[in-house]
Amino acid sequence: MISRMKAKLDGIRSLLYETARFVDIYKAYEHISKERTLSAEERAEMKAYQKLADIFTPMAKGISSEVCNQAAYDSLQIHGGSGFMKDYPIERIFRDARITSIYEGTTQLQVVAAVRGVTTGGYLNQMREYEKVDIKPELSGYREYLIAMANEYDEAVQKVVAHNNNEYTDFHARRLVEMASNIIIGHLLILDANRNHSFWKSTDIFLKIAHAENRGKYELINITNPGDLGKYKVQE
Ligand SMILES: Cc1cc2nc3c(=O)[nH]c(=O)nc-3n(C[C@H](O)[C@H](O)[C@H](O)COP(=O)(O)OP(=O)(O)OC[C@H]3O[C@@H](n4cnc5c(N)ncnc54)[C@H](O)[C@@H]3O)c2cc1C
Repeated sequence: MISRMKAKLDGIRSLLYETARFVDIYKAYEHISKERTLSAEERAEMKAYQKLADIFTPMAKGISSEVCNQAAYDSLQIHGGSGFMKDYPIERIFRDARITSIYEGTTQLQVVAAVRGVTTGGYLNQMREYEKVDIKPELSGYREYLIAMANEYDEAVQKVVAHNNNEYTDFHARRLVEMASNIIIGHLLILDANRNHSFWKSTDIFLKIAHAENRGKYELINITNPGDLGKYKVQE
């Protein structure tokens, strides 16, 4: 449990830094544009980073707050009954964690914003960019793993959008955003492990969990179609 917490924590920290990097770059260009006219190349770069910031921000907020809740839940469980009592800080941490997926936009609303990154291909394009970054040969097996996951994710996205049914896309939106986040976080962890060996363990643990999670979502997408939506509606 603790190793999983650590792997996910390392992963969402990387996602946060990557998101902040995209926001910083486009904000810096915005700032410069108030003092002088940007060149065509600078304007294009600002636009590209703004688009990345727009799809990474809701993903980072949504996924991090859910990971935060799971970590708080698992931490309290590790403490057993004592964790439920006021003797230890975890009781307060558990209550405080619960609001993170509600305020500043609930997870459901982050998904409403993030799903654009799924349907426009923004996340997939960024995955393909990470695949091109040079890494140590020892890490290439992990990258192959992520390439296969990205292909499966792409297949799932194509299957959902092919129905051209907004309600059906909404039904699978969170699954698809979570699949994309697992792959993106996996790439970021590989880059961390490439820079610093201490991230190796988290990378290995995270990728195996992410692979299993994505496979489950992929299977569910494969066995559902818009005709199933009625079964999920509350009857009067
Ligand atoms: C401790 C605390 C501090 C706060 N601080 C601030 C603050 O400083 N500034 C501020 O402006 N606000 C603040 N808020 C308000 C907070 O941002 C809102 O509670 C939050 O945005 C959720 O809105 P809501 O409570 O109206 O829930 P609702 O919008 O009513 O949502 C109820 C449920 O419906 C779901 N839902 C709603 N719309 C959709 C949709 N389109 N698709 C799918 N599901 C949907 C939500 O995900 C949620 O599960 C604070 C709230 C709390 C509890």
